[in-house]
Amino acid sequence: MAPIHRKPPQLQATLLANIGQLLTLRSSSGKPGVTESGPRRGAQLKDLGIIEDAAVLCLGGTITSVGKTKDALRDPWLKKNRRKVIEIDCKGKVVLPGFVDSHTHPVFVSPRLVDFEKRIEGASYEELAAAGGGIRSSLEGVRKAGTLALAEGILTALHEMQTYGTSTVEAKSGYGLTVASEIKSLEAIRLAASQWSGTVISTLLGAHVVPKEFQGCSQKYVETVCTEMIPRAARRKLAQFVDVFCDKGAFSPDEAEQIFAAAARHGLQVRAHVGQLSETRLSPFLRFSPASFDHMDHVNDDDIAQLAKRDTVATLVPGANYFLGLKEYPNARRLIDAGVPVALATDYNPGTSPTISMPMAMSLACTHMKMTPAEAVAAATINGAWALRLAERKGSIEPGKDADLAIFAVDDYREIPYWFGTNHCTATLLNGAMSGMV
Ligand SMILES: [Zn+2]
Repeated sequence: MAPIHRKPPQLQATLLANIGQLLTLRSSSGKPGVTESGPRRGAQLKDLGIIEDAAVLCLGGTITSVGKTKDALRDPWLKKNRRKVIEIDCKGKVVLPGFVDSHTHPVFVSPRLVDFEKRIEGASYEELAAAGGGIRSSLEGVRKAGTLALAEGILTALHEMQTYGTSTVEAKSGYGLTVASEIKSLEAIRLAASQWSGTVISTLLGAHVVPKEFQGCSQKYVETVCTEMIPRAARRKLAQFVDVFCDKGAFSPDEAEQIFAAAARHGLQVRAHVGQLSETRLSPFLRFSPASFDHMDHVNDDDIAQLAKRDTVATLVPGANYFLGLKEYPNARRLIDAGVPVALATDYNPGTSPTISMPMAMSLACTHMKMTPAEAVAAATINGAWALRLAERKGSIEPGKDADLAIFAVDDYREIPYWFGTNHCTATLLNGAMSGMV
């Protein structure tokens, strides 16, 4: 087993200059440093704050100035310190905020190739689960694996993600489903995160499905989640969020509420998988102010009207619909047109969405959910940051925010979702640390 790599040392001042198209996603007020009042909705999703022939200066992991190249070069600090600054010529390139992948399940050991084949031969999601496939088939590997082995798998995924422009990742546990293996999974996330230059937000998904040992007595398992997993994860600061898969074949709304209440008691924020397989009433959950409702394939008009008034983000993961070969995708237009803030994420996981590519998720959003390329960019950056409650630091290119930038070798940002399946990201800045070849 290869040892885990160290984080790169010392951050140098970096100037990205002559940028063909800089997508700042700056706050709608247009004033630098002004914090947005909420996630982007409706027409705001199309406002990318594009600057041509632009420059971005980053110092010590923070963005310090953003503007036209000619103005940046007149900056007195830069004039004095030019020799100390790494200068990157981004002529003919697009620079945008590093993607915020706000929904991933990276703690697993093996791909689920049998499920993949069986599904091609016609088995449904429920049939695979009944035959011992699905989420439960990933449990054995995770339960047996050591923390270091799990961390290596996560770190490999994080490194791969950064090559596609991702700089912030939400990572869930959820393939252990015992107290010990869920805590081990969160420890593995923490270990991998400590070795990566980007930012990782961890989520306890102990309530992913009811494990075999608790079949027929799911309430007992819910109690384990509430009285053991959540308190332990909170005490050791191993998770920022608690997630629940609330759907048919997983946890009931009543069970989800119990889990949210336990999370709130222990100071953890909540998010939920809802409406993937069937409609779930969302209103009982709103009192917990969830950061995000994810999937949202099935949602009713009343809930949409409620969400339009709140900052809870609808996180859409079209990679899962694609990989499952579904004809239907979440109705992004209905959500956006009603004023619900939407984000895009990969849902990276071994069963239903084995992709780390945010550009692929954006491409699917454009072609199958009728989101425009601009909406897809905003959903993959600033609204992803909102979905993780990180919008003060992430998701846009503005002075004072973290130096998370993705550089794409394309002339026009619309090419990012257009060239599907091809990676045009040439470099990523993660909290000021450069990776990739410019
Ligand atoms: Zn998921």
